[in-house]
Amino acid sequence: MSGRPPAAGPLLADQVGYRGSDDVLLRGALYEVWGAICVGCGRAKVFTETQIEHLIPRTVDPSVLDELIIYHGLDTDFHVDQPANLTVICGPCNNKKRDRILRTPGMTTLLHIARDHSPHVIRLVREHATARQVARGLTTAVRADMRDAKTRAEFMQHAPAVVQTLALLDEKKADFVVHRDIRLSLCGDIVSASLTLDAYGRAVSTWVEEFCGRPWREVLEDGVRELITYVADRADWAARNEFDETGNLASISTDALFTPMRISGCHRDGTRMTVEISGQMHGYYTAVVNDIDPWGPDPEIIDIGVDVHVIAQYTMTMSWDLTAAPVMRVKTDVWIPGTAVDVETSRA
Ligand SMILES: [Zn+2]
Repeated sequence: MSGRPPAAGPLLADQVGYRGSDDVLLRGALYEVWGAICVGCGRAKVFTETQIEHLIPRTVDPSVLDELIIYHGLDTDFHVDQPANLTVICGPCNNKKRDRILRTPGMTTLLHIARDHSPHVIRLVREHATARQVARGLTTAVRADMRDAKTRAEFMQHAPAVVQTLALLDEKKADFVVHRDIRLSLCGDIVSASLTLDAYGRAVSTWVEEFCGRPWREVLEDGVRELITYVADRADWAARNEFDETGNLASISTDALFTPMRISGCHRDGTRMTVEISGQMHGYYTAVVNDIDPWGPDPEIIDIGVDVHVIAQYTMTMSWDLTAAPVMRVKTDVWIPGTAVDVETSRA
């Protein structure tokens, strides 16, 4: 792997990336492309609550980085400060996070998502940079503290003109998104869902709630129940699999379940209406596995604590017959990209 610049080497002048301090243009682009979601807690955050996050810590040793590039299947010219390694995180999650290097399939998934997002992030930053002054003014407006009455008044006075200009350039861009936090209590677990809605999503959402006569929380129940059963099975499998022959799973419990989701499709075919929701379910579990300690003076059975993190991509298709009572049919397609499971072991 010679010839590649060191992990922490400086970026070239024309490269888009992190240069050691917060960069609002870069953070804004990451925020937009990653859907306003914190990579740590999966919750929708307002821009001012976010920070730029390196998936592989930028302090990584160059030789370790070479190894990680192979492990995660990354491009050979991978650089820790480029968008293929960047996302956004909220303050509390960043404080909790250790500068940990993860050799896990879950991290591989995130890095592959970052690589897919990278061209879009670079394009957004470059577009902003070409009209730096306008970009600076607008990002200052976005960062402004609206609790200050004078700032707020100033913002209210000038913002409509900006929105108007935006609508003239592209009507769809004048839209805004809202996040609805939905707490579901299912199978003894609490699931925190965050549904991101743009104008189209809000229209579909209103239709669903009115047609079904039920709030989203209830509409989502069946599909999400199926999803958590799937994710829990996968966590169970992962914990057992870690100790293939000798291990015996003593217990497994849920720590947290959260999922960002969005309305990804809505169409009508004759009398049938179909709404598609897609998202990512994050499941955190703690398991205890009994295993035989082969290194002790006598083989003994020990308890080992296992943390399991499952990331599952899913699409939930709900459909209704418009001529009948609002009975919904749900079909949940779940796919776990590769084996998206993190197992971290420690002796209990
Ligand atoms: Zn967070």
